[in-house]
This record gives sequence, structure tokens and C-alpha cells, in this order.
Amino acid sequence: MAKIISPNSTIGVFGSGQLGRMFAIEARKLGYRVHTFSPDSDTPTGQVADIETTANYDDLYEVRSFAQSVDVVTFEFENVPSATVAAAAEFVDVHPRGEILHTTQNRWREKEFLAGNGIPVTPFRTITNLDELRVAVSELGVPCVLKTAGFGYDGKGQSKITSLDDVELAFDKLVGQECVLEAFVDFEKEVSVVCARSQTGEFVHYGVIENEHANHILDVSLAPANISTKVVDDAVAMTREIAERFGYVGTMCVEFFLTRDESLIVNEIAPRPHNSGHLTFGPCVTSQFEQQLRAVCGLPLGSTEFYGPAAMANLLGDVWAGGEPDWTAALADPRVKLHLYGKSEPRAGRKMGHLAATSETAEQAAEAVRAARQRLNSPS
Ligand code: AMP
Repeated sequence: MAKIISPNSTIGVFGSGQLGRMFAIEARKLGYRVHTFSPDSDTPTGQVADIETTANYDDLYEVRSFAQSVDVVTFEFENVPSATVAAAAEFVDVHPRGEILHTTQNRWREKEFLAGNGIPVTPFRTITNLDELRVAVSELGVPCVLKTAGFGYDGKGQSKITSLDDVELAFDKLVGQECVLEAFVDFEKEVSVVCARSQTGEFVHYGVIENEHANHILDVSLAPANISTKVVDDAVAMTREIAERFGYVGTMCVEFFLTRDESLIVNEIAPRPHNSGHLTFGPCVTSQFEQQLRAVCGLPLGSTEFYGPAAMANLLGDVWAGGEPDWTAALADPRVKLHLYGKSEPRAGRKMGHLAATSETAEQAAEAVRAARQRLNSPS
């Protein structure tokens, strides 16, 4: 039986970035109140939430008083310490469960969980010292990628090894941290599946989204992906299997490498709404953020139907390098929708917003958002 949290109740959110902001916008639409908790202030989520608590995640006194002031807790940021989640769970339900976060916030644990459940992962070795790394590089071959086990995202904490001479330097860069060495996958495409699972086991998904990265950071996503029906079915089946095995409640994303022989390998799991799912916010009947809200609150999940093929282009801080971008020029195409996250400092590589569009085909939608992004900086 689902535990229903009714509108006008308060949802607690750990984390305060753009994912929490879009979650809060959806929650507000349905008449919920939102209380965000993070070490920062005037945050993307805090600007939209009813209450913003600024405290460290290891301040368990603050965590407990936060948990007592809300009706249920969820996340927009997965690197919340286990003790923090456990302290909150003394008072309220936390979705997804703390154990799922614990597994997915560490590449070792995540890969072992996946491999243990028969889900294909990149060949990998766990590394704690330089000797292990030397052995692992000779076993997996070059090129390969050394990644920190924890706290890595958008290519941070990663080092590509292209010859045995790189080993020492790569190790020194990530010194003192548990690492994973992965074989380098010569993929055809990167794709993802965003899904939601309810407290009663209802499962919905948005099909397969195609993702293009630049400098390890997501650049453009489009849906539906231009891939065979067999690959779509396989990707959705694997995603569902992962969600079931976890007993997952909320929105989850699985990122895959699609190899040239049409096999899928899981790269990583995001236990929350995901950047590639931003193209569901507007172009779909129910966004990935509303699904998270519905799942956490014990409500039926919504339709994942797209109003049309869709695409999204990220806006990084680099777009501000020449001064204020030309928003008028970008929005000259009436199909294009602008989302900005309320961040005041446009640093290079920082996700500041995105553009989304629907069109006749996913490729045309991608063209529309790319062209709009280009116009942001074109001399008029
Ligand atoms: P990650 O933080 O693990 O998602 O890595 C960020 C991006 O780096 C991925 O989306 C890929 O574009 C690239 N990448 C990471 N691991 C590998 C790998 N083992 N083989 C090839 N490319 C990779």
C-alpha cells in the first residue's frame, strides 16, 4: 500500500541545485510545500522552495530538525552521507532508500551491484595502490580510464591512460582515493533511460534518449534516440530490472554506452532525475520531476507521452564569456524554451540553464536548440 502524502504537505529535499529547482517548481504546481537542505544559500532550489536550510550534511542536529519539519524526504544530489540519510529516516520516509544512495554514490559498489545482478558493465578493476594499477592496466590494456570511486561526475576525478608511461601521473592526480580502472569503450553512441517507479511497483519510462557529450559534460540530448527497436527494448528491460532489484521509489536514470555491435553496457546510474531527462520538462505530459514527486508522495505515476520529438541543449557558464547572452536572438524561434537556474556566477563548465524544443523529428529539435544556443553569442 502506498503511503499518500497529500498536497499542501511539505517535501524535504537534500541538495539545492537545478534538479531540486525543477522538482520544486513541479511540487509547487501541485500545491506542495518544499523545504531544501544543503550547505549553500540563495540556491537554485532555495529560490523556489518555501524554506531553505543552510547547514552541513554532517550537522545531524540540523538534519533531525529538518526531518521533523517535513512529511517525506527525497534527494536531488546523491552524495549525501549515509549517516545524514539515516538521521532523517528516524523521523520520516526517505525515497529512494538510503541503501540505494549508498550503492550508487560509489563506482565500486555500483558496478558490483550491477555485475552481481547480471547487468553488463565496462570491464573494470578496483584500485587502491600504484602496483594494483600497473597490474590492472596490463590486464585491461590501453586506452583505459582511471576514475575515483566516489564523488565523480561530469568527468571530474577521471584520467585517461593511453600508455603504460601515463600510469604514475594518472595515479598521482587521484592520490589517496579509492579508484576504479575501466576499459575504454569505443562506443557508437551514449544513451540513457529515465524511468520512475512508484511505491506499489508501477514502472514508467520515457524510451531511450540519445546523449552527446563535450569535454565529458552532457551537451545535447534528443529523443527518441535513433536506434533499433531491439536496443530500445533491451535498454528499457535493463533499466526496469535495476529499478526492481533496488525496490526503487522515485525517478532514476541509467546511462549506457551502445557499442558498434549493438550491445549495451551500463556506464552509471543516477538515483534521481537526470540532465538527459530535462527534455521531459515541457515536451512531455508528465516531467521526470513530477514523476519523482508522485512516486515519493504515493500518487499514481503520470503519462510519459511526448508531445513530439524533443531535444535539449545545456547552457554552461562559458556562454556568458562575452557578456550577457542575447536571449532575444535565441528565443526568435518560437519552438525554443529557455530554462535558467538562477545561478549568479557563470563559471566555465558550470550548468547555468538549458534550451528545449520539440519539432517534427528529434534531429530537427536538436538543430533548433543548437542554432538557438549559437545565436546567444552571435554578433547582431
Ligand atoms: P562518467 O562521469 O563516468 O559518466 O564519464 C563522463 C563521460 O566520459 C561519459 O559520458 C563518456 O563520454 C566518457 N567516458 C567515461 N568512461 C568511459 C569509458 N570507460 N570509455 C569511454 N568513454 C568513457
